[in-house]
Amino acid sequence: MSQKLPKCYQCGGAFTRRIAPPHHRKLRYEGTAYDVLVTDMPEWHCAACDLSVTDEEGDEPLQAALRKHIGLLTPQQIKAGIKELGITQEKFAERIRCAPESISRWLNGAVLQSRVYDCLMRIYFEFPQVRNALDEFSPGVTFGQTVAHARDADVTGCPAA
Ligand SMILES: [Zn+2]
Repeated sequence: MSQKLPKCYQCGGAFTRRIAPPHHRKLRYEGTAYDVLVTDMPEWHCAACDLSVTDEEGDEPLQAALRKHIGLLTPQQIKAGIKELGITQEKFAERIRCAPESISRWLNGAVLQSRVYDCLMRIYFEFPQVRNALDEFSPGVTFGQTVAHARDADVTGCPAA
């Protein structure tokens, strides 16, 4: 079962799948555009006219490149941190006053956590006193979820125009 390769819309040649050569892109995070080195993004390439086209499969590598550039915790680090605490994702969300859906999106790489949540997770993972302080305080879940949703709406990581 062979999939038919799409045709280049510039010259009619055949597109092939490849990893784009390393290049810089302007990517936005929390209102700032960063010049990010992208090294492992899949793209369609036409050898005949050298046209390159990306699709949605490039989104995750772009997010990963931006995450690395800014220095945010990776999904693997967050996952490991939660595992070490021995609590569920839902419990962790509750403890740091965040919507469970936000944690899921951070873990699957679809959305970058805000800097504030990145800092909060780091100190929550690192310091038992911080955990005690937050765990003892009974959270206003509704308020926490509202804040998390407002933040996620702002953090798209979309390439700048
Ligand atoms: Zn072409």
